[in-house]
Amino acid sequence: MEKHIDILIVGAGISGIGLAVHLSKHCPQRQFDIIERRESFGGTWDFFKYPGIRSDSDMSTFGFNFKPWQKANVLADGASIKGYLLEVLDEYKLKEKIHFQHRVLAANYDSTQKKWLVEIEDANQKKQTWIANFVLGCTGYYNYDQGFQPNFPNQQAFKGQLIHPQFWPADLQYAGKKVVIIGSGATAITLVPALAKGGAEHVTMLQRSPTYIASVPSIDFIYDKMRKVLPEDLAYKLTRARNIGMQRGIYALAQKQPKLLRKLLLKSIEMQLKGKVDMKHFTPSYNPWDQRLCVVPDGDLFKILRSGQASIETDQIEQFTEKGILLKSGQHLDADIIVSATGLEIQILGGIKATIDGKPMDTSKHMLYQGIMVSDVPNMAMIIGYINASWTLKVDIAAEYICRLINYMDKNGYDEVIAQGDQTELMEDTVMGSLSSGYIARAADVMPKQGKHAPWNVTNNYLADRKVLKNARFDDGVLKFEKRTKQSLPKPKLVS
Ligand SMILES: Cc1cc2nc3c(=O)[nH]c(=O)nc-3n(C[C@H](O)[C@H](O)[C@H](O)COP(=O)(O)OP(=O)(O)OC[C@H]3O[C@@H](n4cnc5c(N)ncnc54)[C@H](O)[C@@H]3O)c2cc1C
Repeated sequence: MEKHIDILIVGAGISGIGLAVHLSKHCPQRQFDIIERRESFGGTWDFFKYPGIRSDSDMSTFGFNFKPWQKANVLADGASIKGYLLEVLDEYKLKEKIHFQHRVLAANYDSTQKKWLVEIEDANQKKQTWIANFVLGCTGYYNYDQGFQPNFPNQQAFKGQLIHPQFWPADLQYAGKKVVIIGSGATAITLVPALAKGGAEHVTMLQRSPTYIASVPSIDFIYDKMRKVLPEDLAYKLTRARNIGMQRGIYALAQKQPKLLRKLLLKSIEMQLKGKVDMKHFTPSYNPWDQRLCVVPDGDLFKILRSGQASIETDQIEQFTEKGILLKSGQHLDADIIVSATGLEIQILGGIKATIDGKPMDTSKHMLYQGIMVSDVPNMAMIIGYINASWTLKVDIAAEYICRLINYMDKNGYDEVIAQGDQTELMEDTVMGSLSSGYIARAADVMPKQGKHAPWNVTNNYLADRKVLKNARFDDGVLKFEKRTKQSLPKPKLVS
């Protein structure tokens, strides 16, 4: 089966849905389809089911610029984020644009036709070829099929259950059980209070090294008050501006005065631990924001540690045993359940095998023009959000840029755009390279690379990007535009 479409968005997560809204608002002359491999929308916010799953970004900046969050909570659980996305789909009538249980396996750009030939597998495992003018990757940054799972020494000896948070069993009985969570990132610090409150006999968080953790209020009282007296849009705008400024300010402080920020963060933790937990577990060896800063609402993690329902160990695993984990220090952690919150396996473009005229494209050898378009790859863009701020801030401005580019092409009758890469710009750092977290280090083989200068340098700075993307000219000598020639195949009919 062969189907001709115009713009193909891969992924119906927060990025794909955001991009679809911007396309429908700013490019009404174009048609688009969203291909989603799963049976539902929302990506991350539908897929992860572990207890307590929530954002660690504030919702005024994790929400879109076109739709207020409309609730006073600062962080949100997975179901609320999915609910917000459902409202967006309904308001913009986008559900019918999503082809669920369709997975993009491969895509080849045919430079004669100036079209992408996209191989898609449907729910019945039948393969179809869709022919598209543009492919826009909104596939997130990790592999949905497997998480990052180290092979622990003597792992097979453990007689209890070993679980990865990416595949949380819906029927897992953890009440009354001893749980050990391996990890120190956002997932581990979310799970500890959630499992303890859910009735686990005891929860131990086992980390190799400490992470910076900041406590944030669970309710934004100022936003809540503002919403009662100001129009919703204005209250949201003001709150977003305040939070963007605060996030940027903290990040800038981490770059300019790391020692000061470290002191402030550690002091605040010390005050919450009230001498009941050793500060060594919360004193990282690196500077703030060298790795993603974790947050907890109303200090819930510290409260549960103080109560004794949960504890924390900083040590290394000697080996798994029948009954738990033997640590290098000689201590043994008894466990009925071990949760390996060891992270994600980084994947770009959802594992799609992309080729250009049959020649394989290796994403790790490309840069991103303006942080959006893959160098030397025609008619392709991908949305990779911020890692030092809310992901969605980038989604909005990247989508607006893509719309402006498409409108420019339409106005000038262009069918193809290529961001011509300059190999002298290519650096070893990836576009996520400003953080030293394990999963980002593991991304070097797949992530596009940083460039030395603009437009190849990915700044991870929302305010700077917003200005650049809003004003960037398309006749900059880097973007090359082409029209389809008469010899090319006739323009295909759009069927969707
Ligand atoms: C547990 C967790 C918590 C997080 N919390 C935050 C946070 O608080 N703040 C923040 O900024 N970021 C956070 N992130 C990062 C988060 O992934 C992004 O914020 C955001 O949700 C990514 O949205 P996305 O749409 O780009 O990707 P995803 O949410 O990953 O969605 C991608 C979609 O593409 C589909 N897809 C992938 N490959 C294919 C294919 N080949 N064919 C068809 N469909 C495909 C997937 O099924 C999925 O639906 C978190 C990540 C995780 C895992």
